[in-house]
Amino acid sequence: MKSVVLLSGGLDSTVSLAHALRESEVDLCLTMDYGQRSAAREINSASAIAEYYDLNHMVVDLPFLRKITFSALVNTSKAVPNPSADLLDDPQAALDSAEAVWVPNRNGLFINAAASFAEALDCGLIVTGFNREEARTFPDNSPAFVKAANEALAFSTRNRVRVVSYTQRLDKIEIVQLGKKLNVPWRLIWSCYHGGSAMCGTCESCLRFFRAMKEAGIDGFSAETGCSGNSSV
Ligand SMILES: [Zn+2]
Repeated sequence: MKSVVLLSGGLDSTVSLAHALRESEVDLCLTMDYGQRSAAREINSASAIAEYYDLNHMVVDLPFLRKITFSALVNTSKAVPNPSADLLDDPQAALDSAEAVWVPNRNGLFINAAASFAEALDCGLIVTGFNREEARTFPDNSPAFVKAANEALAFSTRNRVRVVSYTQRLDKIEIVQLGKKLNVPWRLIWSCYHGGSAMCGTCESCLRFFRAMKEAGIDGFSAETGCSGNSSV
């Protein structure tokens, strides 16, 4: 089975890609540019990761999303929340943070864009990097969403493209542990909501990433030192 992988260059999608390489023939990696603060870093990371695995990589521009969203991920006049590390597992704090970074129909759009590529390339699978930890506050990360998307894709694609997420039932620590087994190139990952020369270490995405790396025993990555990351941007 051939697949198209949605690759942002972050933890979940990179580990998903590494897993997908064992389950399918990865035909193409796609990175979405919707004007997010971290777009240049995400594109750089995803491109480096695709190159590491010797895969095709393409950036899909979604400029209209930048125009219509007020999300702090895109709109620089709004602050990206810096939640307390102690509140990462607090449902209300997570909901407040999720609201600030919500982008209208983002994952729905990404999946449908990827489905067009998948059908055109005769690929049966779209691989996404969802996770259990964020599915609590982002419904478009959940197994129920994947199931519903697949029901729709059975009608909208002639080859009945299906979405799979190998990480959707895992929390971030379990995803790092899976990545460890798959020898994921950690230094190429960018898991920060911001751009810049290093991951900020304080946004929710960074906090979850660094917590998982620390608890899974991966050395050289901490919120204090930042990501050793790829530094070509
Ligand atoms: Zn960050």
